[in-house]
Amino acid sequence: MELKGKNAIVTGAARGIGRGIALKLAEAGANVALVDLGNPRDPALTYNLAAHGDLASAVDEVKSRGVKAAPILADVTRLADCERMAAEVAKALGSIDILVNNAGIIAAGPVAEFSEEAWDRVMAVNAKGPFLCAKAAIPHLMRNQEGAIINIASIAGKTARRGLSAYSASKFAVMALTQALAEELGPANIRVNAVCPGLLRTAMWTDVLNQYLGKAMRGNAESPFDKTVGSACYLRREQTPADIGEAVVYLARADNVTGTSLVVAGGAEVH
Ligand code: NAD
Repeated sequence: MELKGKNAIVTGAARGIGRGIALKLAEAGANVALVDLGNPRDPALTYNLAAHGDLASAVDEVKSRGVKAAPILADVTRLADCERMAAEVAKALGSIDILVNNAGIIAAGPVAEFSEEAWDRVMAVNAKGPFLCAKAAIPHLMRNQEGAIINIASIAGKTARRGLSAYSASKFAVMALTQALAEELGPANIRVNAVCPGLLRTAMWTDVLNQYLGKAMRGNAESPFDKTVGSACYLRREQTPADIGEAVVYLARADNVTGTSLVVAGGAEVH
């Protein structure tokens, strides 16, 4: 699919990986609707999400690439928000050609100590969110001759690790949704794929995993993030939001690729 002039939705686009995806889609010529909560406080979480100002600055950065960009405030766990999001994008940009389900959250801890509230919220944002956004966008995608849905899963959706049961379960669910949707939407020429990012220095690591894993490594000056990159990535380097954006652009363009997942992890996961 040629991306120039196409219209894309990216959820969780105010910062981190979502922002990198929005920028790469814009550099490929697509207009982008950037969706985020506009409220950093989620009571189920130990860290702050993106602020309203992050979304505004991400929109400005995307516009600077010479395409149209629109901010949309929505919580991907609410069907009414997702339906309004799809309607607003179709009105503002004219159609929906690409949906990137990137919004996600993390909580870490052993199962015996993990709260039911945190489990429910991780599953709601990471697993139900892509379902609701797809459900809302599909009627719009169906109006075109082609389209693409790209779900941002994780290497944690390939191999689950201790302390990450809810997060991993939610990402395995994203993989299942990707495969089921690919078969459902193939006849309409809508391709559905996943990207599995590896290790990126975003809030998930700097504000959550470094603290959680750091407790077990007390006395070691190296951060858990740097240690994991050094030991798990064959290439011995971290991944960036631009790396994930390039993978999304590839999958949005790749006319004969559906139902698959593209791991962008420097070798930290090889399946
Ligand atoms: P991040 O916290 O920087 O970005 C997540 C974004 O989603 C934030 O802007 C946040 O405000 C938004 N968001 C959260 N809940 C939302 C909701 N209910 N509705 C709308 N927006 C919501 O983290 P990130 O690392 O950029 O994560 C982006 C995606 O990449 C996530 O799906 C994450 O699971 C995945 N991922 C990250 C890594 C990593 O190493 N950072 C690795 C693999 C996968």
